[in-house]
Amino acid sequence: MAEGFWAGTYDVIIVGGGHAGVEAALASARLGRRTLLVTLHLDFIARMFCNPSIGGPGKGHMVRELDALGGEMARAADRTALQRRMLNTSKGPAVRALRAQVDRAAYSRYMRRVLEETPNLDLRQGAVVALDVADGRVRGVRLDTGAVYETAAVVLATGTFLNGVVIVGERRTPSGPENLPAARALGEQLVRLGFRVLRLQTSTSPRLDGRTIDFSRFERQDPDPDAPYFSYTSRSEDGLASAELPTYLTYTTPPGHEIVRLNLDRAPQVSGAMDAVGPRYCPSIEEKIVRFPHRGRHPIFLEPDGADTYEVYVQGLSTSLPEDVQRELLLTIPGLEGARILRVGYTIEYDAVDPVELWPSLETKRVRGLFTAGQINGTSGYEEAAAQGILAGINAARFVLGEEPLVLGRDQAYIGVLVDDLVTRGVDEPYRMLTSRVEHRLLLRFDNADRRLVPVGYRVGLVSEDRYRSYLAKVEAIEAERRRLTTLRVGPGEEEVLRAHYLPVPREPLSAYEYLRRPDVSFADLLRVVPPPSPLPRDVAEAVEIEAKYEGYIAREAQEVARMRRLEGKRLDPDLDYDAVSGLSQEAREKLRRVRPLTVGQAARVPGVHAADVSALLVYLAHRERRKEATR
Ligand SMILES: Cc1cc2nc3c(=O)[nH]c(=O)nc-3n(C[C@H](O)[C@H](O)[C@H](O)COP(=O)(O)OP(=O)(O)OC[C@H]3O[C@@H](n4cnc5c(N)ncnc54)[C@H](O)[C@@H]3O)c2cc1C
Repeated sequence: MAEGFWAGTYDVIIVGGGHAGVEAALASARLGRRTLLVTLHLDFIARMFCNPSIGGPGKGHMVRELDALGGEMARAADRTALQRRMLNTSKGPAVRALRAQVDRAAYSRYMRRVLEETPNLDLRQGAVVALDVADGRVRGVRLDTGAVYETAAVVLATGTFLNGVVIVGERRTPSGPENLPAARALGEQLVRLGFRVLRLQTSTSPRLDGRTIDFSRFERQDPDPDAPYFSYTSRSEDGLASAELPTYLTYTTPPGHEIVRLNLDRAPQVSGAMDAVGPRYCPSIEEKIVRFPHRGRHPIFLEPDGADTYEVYVQGLSTSLPEDVQRELLLTIPGLEGARILRVGYTIEYDAVDPVELWPSLETKRVRGLFTAGQINGTSGYEEAAAQGILAGINAARFVLGEEPLVLGRDQAYIGVLVDDLVTRGVDEPYRMLTSRVEHRLLLRFDNADRRLVPVGYRVGLVSEDRYRSYLAKVEAIEAERRRLTTLRVGPGEEEVLRAHYLPVPREPLSAYEYLRRPDVSFADLLRVVPPPSPLPRDVAEAVEIEAKYEGYIAREAQEVARMRRLEGKRLDPDLDYDAVSGLSQEAREKLRRVRPLTVGQAARVPGVHAADVSALLVYLAHRERRKEATR
């Protein structure tokens, strides 16, 4: 590498201390690899550049999965929550998930402290301006000071900083979020290395001084006192955040919509002045007004930014509009007429790497030992970033040891769906996790992430012996309660006690487990009739009830998974010559050559590959197998 001085050697180097970089650094260091985390500003570790909240359907599932694997976000959210609410509680268990408002500054302080206290991990403030790549492998990084760090694996987690441009109305400023510098040199080098780069954008809302808001005009939303924690390891006695702050709901008004309509030519997101693509599922206020012209109002949530600040985040008002229009718009929202803006809403345009450039391990196909994670891969969201971060950190550490990478299946985790969608389908806008993206939702629930992934976290080395033992005890408790219920009988003979607990009387005797499956039987009521030898922990009772009531559906999804796994089990050579596969359509051939799927199952999910193409692949593999047999 040209100019610079040797500053140190590490097993793994993480570039970027955001949500992806933090999880990657912790995973790599906790796996015993000497790890360096370089980031532009140590006061912005795990900064929430947008709304100060974690979780919700889909996103919350991944936070739980991260926790089960041994990641940190769930614990951080439990210790800095200002409010916790369990969402979709009236719907089926597949879409229920926790959402927490979080203290932005406390979250960042907590994560920095965890990083500083993690053995094998060094922190460094600085701007990485170049990767040292030789013979198709990454060898190190160089900082703007000339410091050169050598390594065998790098995780690039630079978020929205690559060639970042901040936009407020007509004003465009090369910058990362919150006036941090954009990463120009690094972005240009990735293009020189041949990476296909996408131009994306995302926007955020203005922040207001809470002392200038008339909260009496809004609908108050209080925390959910019964909400669980994100982390399976959090206990109320751990001194967790009390999470008792309210949020507030109000709405935009038609006069405000008219102001936006009159200024659409000054909103780059809708005026055509931007060629970057924004997130469909996080539209700005101007996009909402253009897309839904007949809607008379749009919800606005006022969210506290922290326990020790008056700052309020205005969820639902993200925008590319100029400041003067943002001010006029606020005047039309009852309760915000006198609100003072602390930070103007803005949009950021940035470069992302086309995630089809990645293997399912998040290692890049072009440069050995170079991994990318987070918004750089075309996603949007702290949780999506952190989920990629832990995987990239685990796999960078395993790469250094010459071990096989960890890849999670679509039937195993939302994180598996996220990564498979990215590397198989690519993105044409910032990708945000939704429960509708997951085909096995009933198997991948918020409540059972531990039973899906703690064994994986333990196997890779991120989950401790102690934690694994307490996990096994929980699994045994669930099994024991299921067994107990199957041995107990409930029937017409118990009519009196059932009626006393407002429980239906079955016509025929049946096991308590069968009885629990009835939709009109609640487990809490049943336990009063057939109490367990000792009170059941809440999460054990929840697991028993869900799996009893949804047993049939879960069994059907499990059959579907077994069918899917057959194709997943058929491996494809990453360098397979698709011209040699007869019967493929031209489109399939091109797409397969670009994606280079590792299994027939993944090939079947590549857009443009159809059933006939999958059959052609299976025939090709069978022929090749027969030819191998013949030559043995
Ligand atoms: C304006 C805006 C609006 C957003 N809106 C939403 C939204 O509506 N919904 C949503 O879910 N998410 C939103 N987000 C996205 C959310 O903030 C990101 O998804 C999340 O922060 C991504 O995490 P990350 O770790 O990938 O990157 P980031 O959190 O951006 O962290 C990147 C890190 O890399 C460091 N870095 C960058 N370049 C270098 C370099 N050359 N050398 C050293 N360090 C470097 C930076 O200092 C930073 O610490 C928004 C973000 C912004 C900026």
